[in-house]
Order: sequence, then structure tokens, then C-alpha cells
Amino acid sequence: MKVCKFGGTSMASADSVRLVTDIIRQDEDRRYIVVSAPGKRFPADVKVTDALYAYGKSHDFEGIAKRYTDIADAFGVDIAPLLQDVGTQLEGTSSRDFAASRGEYLCARMLAEILGAEFVDAAGLICFDEDGELLLAESCGRLFRRLSSTHIAVLPGFYGTLPDGNIKTFSRGGSDITGAIVAAALDADLYENWTDVDGFLSADPRIVKDPCLIERLSYKELRELAYMGAEVLHPECIFPVRHAGIPINVKNTFNPTHPGTMIVADAADCPSERVVTGVAGKKGFTIINIEKDMMNSEIGFARRVLSVLEEEQISFEHVPSGIDTLSIVIRDEYVERRLPRLLLKLQNASDADNIEVHSGLALIATVGRNMASRQGTAAALFKSLAARHINVRMIDQGSSELNIIIGVDTFDYEKAITAIYHGFFK
Ligand code: ASP
Repeated sequence: MKVCKFGGTSMASADSVRLVTDIIRQDEDRRYIVVSAPGKRFPADVKVTDALYAYGKSHDFEGIAKRYTDIADAFGVDIAPLLQDVGTQLEGTSSRDFAASRGEYLCARMLAEILGAEFVDAAGLICFDEDGELLLAESCGRLFRRLSSTHIAVLPGFYGTLPDGNIKTFSRGGSDITGAIVAAALDADLYENWTDVDGFLSADPRIVKDPCLIERLSYKELRELAYMGAEVLHPECIFPVRHAGIPINVKNTFNPTHPGTMIVADAADCPSERVVTGVAGKKGFTIINIEKDMMNSEIGFARRVLSVLEEEQISFEHVPSGIDTLSIVIRDEYVERRLPRLLLKLQNASDADNIEVHSGLALIATVGRNMASRQGTAAALFKSLAARHINVRMIDQGSSELNIIIGVDTFDYEKAITAIYHGFFK
């Protein structure tokens, strides 16, 4: 049995929904379908989710409703009463999460109607605690009880319910997480994630021309690449399927015979000669270097520094350290307005000799499950960067040896990605 999630581009127009229905009907194992809200049909188009987030100001439901009627009409399905209900609900709500969730809700209702399948709402099945944390085991139990007697069902992605019954959404792109939860709940053989590209690419195609497609990837590599900006899947979507080890197959709705990328639990199931699987990165980081003589022998130094971040509710990306320095890499958004206060608190907590701030940093992760068993990977990486005269501002390699992270100046970002890519993928 397969759980299939179809993304926004797959659900964007009548033509793409026709491809979706063909894909579902071609394989009777495709029984549990999770959908996103209709996405962009062309580059300047507006995603339904964005239009719904803007609803609080625009109060324009007509344009949103038309996205659905254009599709439903092509299949001879009448969704006018449903649209009217949702329009009324939107008028009466001030909840941004509720408004945004209606994109997926309407899409799943519509597709269920088109397929003659059962619609099963995620509300009341996918649940969060009062702090908005997903209750995975509880959600899986509820989904299992609700779905195990259903032969084919369509569910909306992206949202669930809080203990008070209010709707809460995941972060953007969260329908991938819903699909993973449904797959875990039903112990699916495969979680198919249908999107608009053939699979994971080994580098961003906007930077590197025609990068290789990754045929197989381990969960851990996926997590590293997705977190560092590879946009195909939500970085959190492996957590629900990890325990059961359910493979995820990223497939292209617009090229369905292509095998796509298979993401598997165990790196041993992905034999590959390549030492590097992919390169991904993100801009927008700041590095704070804290210098203090004899820091190495001062017990509690790191704890005092990190407790400032905790008090300020700042999550850090990396903490590389030397004998007399400790650096913290954090996202720019944390420092934008509160840098002076943060620096003062860090100074008080650490009694540092010097604190320097360097913003405009981009992080690049070079990821590969084979790195741990091969020599010379770091040498090859830095040789490629040196050959292009790129200054490396930070280096971090986790002990799992799955990943080498470097920090470069933002203006070197594209050049660095290209250099690393060509250093490993000839
Ligand atoms: N529709 C939501 C978004 O645009 C969720 C999703 O598509 O996964 O982020």
C-alpha cells in the first residue's frame, strides 16, 4: 500500500489534476492521497495558500474560489455549495491558520469528489499539544483507527487541531509532513511524494547548470540537504516515517515514468561510488566570535554563553570553537534588531577579551554518506575553493562525518557552490 502526497503544482490546474487522477488510477496500491493547496500555474501566479494568508487584509475570496471552480468544472463536479460554506467561514474567522488551512481542505474535498473517493479531514486526527508540538503517536493512532477500514481516501495536508479544537498549520510546505504521518500511521510500504521535478538534484539548478539527479539518498542525507535549502521536501518530513523505516519516493507528476529519487532509512541500502551526494546552502547568517585568553580551561564558559541564547530565545546553527575562541553562527533575523543587547549580555556572561560580529555569511553543506570511509574529501573540497580564491570563514564537520559545513561571504556563495560541485561531480 502506498501513501501519495501531491504538491501544489500538481494540484494547480485542471490539466495537472488530470495527471494526478491518472497516476492514482494507474496503481491500485495508491490508496491514501494527501494534497496541498493549488500552487502556481506560471511563475507570476499566486499560490492559494498565499492568497489565503492575505485574506485577512484583502477579503477577496472570489479569486480563490475561481481557482477551484476552474478545476472542478473541467471534471463536471459542482463545488459551489462547498465554496459558499468556506467563504462564510472565512468571513467569521480571524485565525490565520484556519484561513490558510482552507486551501488544502477545499483541494482534498474537490479531489475526493473527482475520484469518487472518501474525504477524510485531518482536523481531529492530526493533533498538537497546547504548545503547538505535534503529538505523533496520538495522531498515528487516530489516523489508523479512522483509515484502516477505508479503501481509498483523500486527506488535506498542512494542518491538524490543537487541544481546544482550533486549527493549527505546520510550517510552509507542511503537507509533506502530513503525508509522512499518514504513511507512518498505516505502516505504508512506500510514501510517494509527487512534485514538479524528477527528484533531488545534487546542487541548486539555479546555480549549477544541469546538476546530476540523486537516485538514492539516506534519511540522514535528506535531512541535511533539505535543512540546508534543497527545497524538494520539508526538512521535518522524515521524522514520522523514520521509526518504521518507510522509504520515500520523490516523483514528478509531469514525468511519471521517471524513477525519481528514493530516500531510504539505511545508508547501506544506497550503494554508490560517489563520495559526495549533494551540495546545498543558505544565505543570511551571522557569526559572533567570542575571544578570551585561557578559555579552554575555564569551566562553564560555553554554558554561560549558550544560556544567553536561551534567554534571548535564539537557536544557533553551529558553535565552532578554538582554544581561546568560541563562535556562534545564528540566522540574521535574530540579530537584526537586538544585536547591541545580545552583545552586551554575551559580554557580561563571558567577560570576553573581544567580541566580533561578522554578518553576510552563507553556509554550504557538502553531504555524503561515503565521506566517513574515504580519505581526501576535505582536501578535495578546500582545493576546489582555493582554486577559485574563495575565503572560507568557518568550517564545521560533525562527528558523523556525513557533512562538511563551511561558511563563506555571501558574495562568494554561488561561486563556492559551483566550485564544490565541479570538484566532486566532473
Ligand atoms: N500549502 C502550504 C504551503 O504553500 C502547504 C504545502 O503546500 O505543503 O506552504
